[in-house]
Amino acid sequence: MIIEKGTAISKGYAFGNAYILKNEKISINFKKIKLNNVEKEIEKFLISIKKTIKEYKKIKSKIKNKDKKILFDGYILILNDKSINNDIINLIKKKLFSADAAVSEVINKQIDSIKKIKNEYIKERISDILDIKKKIIININNIKYKDINFSKNNDDIIIISKDISPSQIIQFNNKNIKGFLTEEGSITSHTSIIAKSTKIPLIIKIKNLLKKIKKNDYIIIDSTKNIIYINPNEKIKNKVKLEYKLYNEKIKKLKKIKKLPTITKDGYKIKLLANIGNNKDINNVIKNGAEGIGLYRTEFLFMNRNSFPTEEEQFEAYKEIAISMKNNPITIRTVDLGGDKFLPYMNFPKENIPYLGWRSIRIYKDRKEIIQTQLKAILRASIYGNFKIMFPMIISMEEVFFIKKEIKKTKIKLKQKNQKFKKNIKIGIMIETPSAAIIANKLAKELDFFSIGTNDLTQYTLAVDRNNSIISYLYNPLSPSMIHLIKLIIDEIHKENKKISICGELASDEKSTILLLGLGIDELSMDSNSIPNIKNIIRNLSIKHAKKITEKILSKSTFKEINKILQENILNK
Ligand code: PEP
Ligand code: MG
Repeated sequence: MIIEKGTAISKGYAFGNAYILKNEKISINFKKIKLNNVEKEIEKFLISIKKTIKEYKKIKSKIKNKDKKILFDGYILILNDKSINNDIINLIKKKLFSADAAVSEVINKQIDSIKKIKNEYIKERISDILDIKKKIIININNIKYKDINFSKNNDDIIIISKDISPSQIIQFNNKNIKGFLTEEGSITSHTSIIAKSTKIPLIIKIKNLLKKIKKNDYIIIDSTKNIIYINPNEKIKNKVKLEYKLYNEKIKKLKKIKKLPTITKDGYKIKLLANIGNNKDINNVIKNGAEGIGLYRTEFLFMNRNSFPTEEEQFEAYKEIAISMKNNPITIRTVDLGGDKFLPYMNFPKENIPYLGWRSIRIYKDRKEIIQTQLKAILRASIYGNFKIMFPMIISMEEVFFIKKEIKKTKIKLKQKNQKFKKNIKIGIMIETPSAAIIANKLAKELDFFSIGTNDLTQYTLAVDRNNSIISYLYNPLSPSMIHLIKLIIDEIHKENKKISICGELASDEKSTILLLGLGIDELSMDSNSIPNIKNIIRNLSIKHAKKITEKILSKSTFKEINKILQENILNK
């Protein structure tokens, strides 16, 4: 049988027997406790908190990746949260709840209020909180954590589960685990972010997965094509094994070109840069041959904690990146909050359409200390590397004047304190609203560089919420209107002799490379792992041919026709 629907997160092939991961059910004692047991229950709770923190610290110490460690710092912060812990103790004292029932009650209430928030990012944190709750209750009841005995006979296995929590995926370092399939999950969950940085294939959101797959079924995952085979016959097995071999050969070949320049057959140079969040490994950027960072999403620095990062904390983070990237450009995007990115320690208004509401630069205007602190940290760190500052969600020239004023004010403050910074740091913006696209030429006169955020530009141009699965079939960065808008932006920026890049997901879409080059893009910024593939495509293209194909595409008025041309011209078939 073949299941073909799901969302492929990390790409590759995996072969193995199904291991159905059932999340153990934990029984909770809901009976009222006796008054003279109150102190004992409180002590049980407090010991459990200490034990759970110790366990998370132990897991953290085993993890090498710094950004993954931060996730566990976030868990520890929640465990130390005074207000949650006091609520739990009060339930034990005043309502005679058992320790485990009190934990369950308080944390469930937190989860219920999170569920009401119409926001995917926050909702994704629920699996983190459930993980914490489970661990506290296990420790209250002194249940021995069963180490999952994945593979006694060293068989390769594929984990099949409703969902996988971030701490589970980090703990799965058994080398027999070859792949993950889940019924639930989302692209921006921590589990997905962590899986992307490993090479283990993960496909999420597979409908009725647990009904379709039984224990020990033989599974093949091809997440490059988003295909899952269940108990395939020998003929299919051999076919996929051959595809896998070809895929490995391609990866090997791609590794060889990492150090070669990104240049078309007729000598046109394109810069390939990396997108990073706080969670991505900088080594991966260098290993994949990126010429710099085209998008550093700084909001990850603000997440998984319970207060704003201080100027000093931010300074250290930016300085570290600056040093490791040597003199390569680092485009730091100022914190892009709101929309689908919220902070538990910051009050956001209830809005009907948060993506059209209090977001990004609009927040800076009301909460100037947020942007001023960040700008100070970036400017101070600028002496260690080659920083460029990029602002998100711009819609008008007034906003450009506002950010310039904020930068000027910050520089004055730093000077007063005799703090050093680079004088001529380049200032740019994301073009991710139709409004900025339409006035691109005017913006180009005021700013140094530009990057098209196709993820948001698509949702604002087509009026299609980028996180709404009901209408996701309409979300298409290659619709004719988007292609013409991208053309307009590139042409208008070029008129002022300025450079333009793309840092939305479209940049890593291999079938679009020919079109983006034909439209005249100067730089592409994408997740590090996609860079070798796109470089290979560019090195095998001529700009003359790309322009010819692009002319043809521009003359078409439906996506169907455009897609047909792009499919016919994919170099990596
Ligand atoms: C974009 O909108 O294309 C972009 C790169 O920013 P983000 O995905 O962080 O909104
Ligand atoms: Mg955006």
